[in-house]
Amino acid sequence: MVDVVIVGAGAAGIAAARRIAAAGRRYVVLEAADHVGGRCVTDTGIFGVPYDLGAHWIHTPNLNPLTKLGTRRGIEVYPAPASQKVRIGRRYAREGEMEDFLAAQVRADRAIIETARKADVACEQILPNDLGDWRPAVEFVLGPYTSGKDLRQVSALDFARAYERETDAFCRQGFGALLATRADGIKVKLSTPALAIDFRRNVTVETPNGEITARAVIVTLSTNVIAAGAVKFTPELAAGHLEIFSKLSLGSFDHVALELADNALGVESDDLIFEKSADKRTAAILANVGGTSLCLVQVAGTFGRELSAQGQAAMVDFAADWLAGLFGADVKKAVKRSHATRWNHDPLTLGAFSAAAPGWQKARRMLMQPVNDAVWFAGEALHEQLWGSVGGAWESGERSADAVLRRLGGVKEVPAAEVSPPGRLKERSPRTRQEEIGAAPGTFAR
Ligand SMILES: Cc1cc2nc3c(=O)[nH]c(=O)nc-3n(C[C@H](O)[C@H](O)[C@H](O)COP(=O)(O)OP(=O)(O)OC[C@H]3O[C@@H](n4cnc5c(N)ncnc54)[C@H](O)[C@@H]3O)c2cc1C
Repeated sequence: MVDVVIVGAGAAGIAAARRIAAAGRRYVVLEAADHVGGRCVTDTGIFGVPYDLGAHWIHTPNLNPLTKLGTRRGIEVYPAPASQKVRIGRRYAREGEMEDFLAAQVRADRAIIETARKADVACEQILPNDLGDWRPAVEFVLGPYTSGKDLRQVSALDFARAYERETDAFCRQGFGALLATRADGIKVKLSTPALAIDFRRNVTVETPNGEITARAVIVTLSTNVIAAGAVKFTPELAAGHLEIFSKLSLGSFDHVALELADNALGVESDDLIFEKSADKRTAAILANVGGTSLCLVQVAGTFGRELSAQGQAAMVDFAADWLAGLFGADVKKAVKRSHATRWNHDPLTLGAFSAAAPGWQKARRMLMQPVNDAVWFAGEALHEQLWGSVGGAWESGERSADAVLRRLGGVKEVPAAEVSPPGRLKERSPRTRQEEIGAAPGTFAR
């Protein structure tokens, strides 16, 4: 018997385990995959250089729980460039055009934030009419690129509550590699899925290798995995409870990674490039990642979901064609190795990150309530301001661990190094056009 079973060794599970371990409680972490990290994992085999399959941007690094306490030797965190570019066909947007684009984003942002104070409607419903021919690009940046969903599927209140992501950083070895260092010393049973959780008396978690009994369980699975019934709960979670998970379903966001010879795009290291698009068939580029020849074409939202359903080859074809349209046909000849993530099809996640359905921002807080004082949920979806991020998942894991420790009683003092200083992250507020134009465009980093 242990005090706490933690299901899932992504950011939330690792954070919860560190907290429980620091309090001197007995715990075990069950992870279905053969590695830790979940949606924040770095591959080095496919291209021979660090390739983040999931999270890559470290938002607000001075406050991010993954970086604010420093990193270990061999892990280098460096600032993300504070600029973005826009392609208009085969050329870059000029200064005045960039101003128009950013101003259109500010008008849309402001309209959403102001309306969200009065009603939690779909973001799309309140987009201003004066976005002109920048509308599809603005819709892409604020919808699929930020939330993994089209704006008609996104709650205005959820969007408005998200903290500003003013500065960003990257990890040279990959964000997943950084997160994995935080799991050092944590007891994780890899390749050990939780199959069933019985919380009628104490908690019994069934795995393929037998049962584990505990006084409490922290479940950090994605909302889509829980809503799909991948783990059987006894007693069953009420239908209403399951519905709340589905109101925070995961959007679609994938990386199509292309290794391009000879800097075929002619861009700088870590350049972030959008397109002045005419419709939803668009993407973003993070080019020459960390100074390598790896370019990530990021596809998201309904278009990204439909594309990923067609398989890796279709995703790579789209990315190569799309880049050729923006940078010239020679780009296609420069493609060496390629890969595409398909998070919607990974049974351990079933999507990218959560976005609340219109009217359902409240679901995030509702899910923070324990069930029977025995089952706590945690993960990115249970953070009201930092949803969809590694930092949010981490803080949610810590919060649920604290709640469990209080429930178990006899809470020991947690060492200072484990405690997050109070956040000073900024609430989202409608900014002036000038402020926005001067702001670090990393605000739109994903
Ligand atoms: C393509 C993409 C890009 C992203 N970009 C960014 C970014 O730039 N910056 C950022 O901050 N965030 C980003 N995110 C979001 C971020 O990755 C997630 O918010 C965060 O990693 C979620 O952590 P979590 O612990 O809540 O969930 P997960 O990481 O999903 O952890 C849950 C764990 O549970 C495991 N599991 C599943 N089923 C079982 C079972 N039955 N038993 C045991 N274990 C199980 C899974 O394998 C997984 O390891 C991105 C995500 C994606 C997909």
